[in-house]
Amino acid sequence: MYVLSVLVRALFECECCVYVRYKLCVCVCVYVLSGHGCFGRYLCQIRREQTAGCHHCSAGAEDTALHTLQECSAWDEQRRALGAIIGFDLSLPAVIAAMAGSSTSWDAVASFCEAVMPAKEAAERERERESALLSRRNNRRGRRGMAVPALRPP
Ligand SMILES: [Zn+2]
Repeated sequence: MYVLSVLVRALFECECCVYVRYKLCVCVCVYVLSGHGCFGRYLCQIRREQTAGCHHCSAGAEDTALHTLQECSAWDEQRRALGAIIGFDLSLPAVIAAMAGSSTSWDAVASFCEAVMPAKEAAERERERESALLSRRNNRRGRRGMAVPALRPP
């Protein structure tokens, strides 16, 4: 997080980085780099998910920003495209260094994030929708379950 905060501060203090600042503001990379996005670990911490496990692969791994960036098989294609441009060292310092080093690398990371994060968010919304439907269905059954015995003759 320290490296990210230094990068963000440098970008916002630099007079000639208006375009970069714009990209930073609109880019969902911040979520990936901070881990405060649609990741199981974070969603579990804020009690929006019951488990921190990744729903996108069968590795049984905790869904974190680094899992998404470095190893989740669901994003292999996007990772290959990213690695072809910035290299395959996808550690956080290497990714940030690549982003700071060239606009091509910055755009490659942004493209990765823009491809992956909306898909993760859509999957989360679908899980929430299914969970709400299941909960409503169970509540209806529960109400009927309570009401039926009360109407039965003794
Ligand atoms: Zn995964």
